Amino acid sequence: MAFRSIKGTKDVLPADTHRWQHIESVVRSVFQRFNYKEIRTPLFEQTALFSRSIGELTDIVGKEMYTFEDRSGDRITLRPEGTASVIRAFIQNNLAEQLPLTKVYYIGPMFRQERPQAGRLRQFHQFGAEAIGSPCAEVDAEVIAMAIEVYRTLGLRQYSLKINSVGCEKCRPLYKVKLQEELRKIAPQLSADSQRRIDENPMRVLDSKDEQDQKLTADMPLINQFLCEECSLHFSDVQRMLESFGITYTVNGRLVRGLDYYTKTAFELTSTELGSQDALAGGGRYDLLAKELGGKQTPGVGFAAGIERLLMVLEKTGYPFADSDHPQVFIAAADDPARAWTIAETMRLRGAGIAAETDLLRRSLKAQMREADRQRALHVLVVGERELVEGKAALKSMQDGTSRMIPLDAIALALTDTST
Ligand code: AMP
Repeated sequence: MAFRSIKGTKDVLPADTHRWQHIESVVRSVFQRFNYKEIRTPLFEQTALFSRSIGELTDIVGKEMYTFEDRSGDRITLRPEGTASVIRAFIQNNLAEQLPLTKVYYIGPMFRQERPQAGRLRQFHQFGAEAIGSPCAEVDAEVIAMAIEVYRTLGLRQYSLKINSVGCEKCRPLYKVKLQEELRKIAPQLSADSQRRIDENPMRVLDSKDEQDQKLTADMPLINQFLCEECSLHFSDVQRMLESFGITYTVNGRLVRGLDYYTKTAFELTSTELGSQDALAGGGRYDLLAKELGGKQTPGVGFAAGIERLLMVLEKTGYPFADSDHPQVFIAAADDPARAWTIAETMRLRGAGIAAETDLLRRSLKAQMREADRQRALHVLVVGERELVEGKAALKSMQDGTSRMIPLDAIALALTDTST
């Protein structure tokens, strides 16, 4: 039996890659406008990097990581997200010494063994950014604004931004105790997952997708009533700045997100164009993460966004993706004696910077013309023995059907002359 790709992974086929490239180029240009530089970290890291940062009790670490022992017995994990690796690289390479604020972005695959469904894959792709080194609310606002700018640039209108503050090491413990007290009263009625979380990670119970859990916890106290003065001020600063940027949002006191390392700001962007997996992007502040990973205490904030889900929304809303690239010229051989020349000339044109194609299957002229059409070549040049003797041939524009005679030693010039 022929091999098949692994469940939850997808090929991006040649007919679709230009869509990916377009999204990636928009992401890069937006990030560049905000002065973020690309960072590329390895696709696999020590398992402990992720379990330490994301949190042992999270779904990602508990159930979803692709972890294996390599041949030397080291525990390795395919990265399930980007932030931990970026912070590891930041610490390891002393980036803090180069700039007081490190602004980086990444684009690439992430791996989680989730149950595949529409918008949920096991190898999926994210673009994301991290700003490391500032505790100030302006960075939270900038990062949120930058995420939104990507969607705006792509013409997306149907999204909503939810924000929350999940507090800090000063105020969160008090809230946790209060929440645990309340949750213990209804523990037996909660889902098994939520019961498990009461002791270690009670805030995630509020984030449960289980309907019964949601009903039972509807009136639970929320973190925003417990924020310390610093967190409270920070949160209102973030909101004020978002308003000054013209960004609309709602505060959702139940938003905690699935990773343990967040402090203060947490946010999520969702799209009404997506089904149950409606999150486009999520992020937040992580002031304790660098220290947790063995570095100096360094505040940071970032976000990550799914490319597959963005693509789904764009396709659903009929985004006008430009066509993929077409050859500028297709050089067809009218007879066998001309073939050696058509191939050599195609190579010369490519060397001169022109996207040129020719027949590599020794087909009839008719079949070559069909091929030029299928490739949507902008021009076709038909060359046979006679044209070679005369030193000129007809260059046909496939857009308007017109032809003109051009000298065979100046094809590149003729092609650049025509406005293609
Ligand atoms: P997270 O790192 O879980 O906050 O995810 C950030 C974004 O990545 C989400 O909002 C989704 O758009 C996307 N994402 C997360 N997990 C998956 C997945 N399994 N398949 C496809 N996209 C995903």
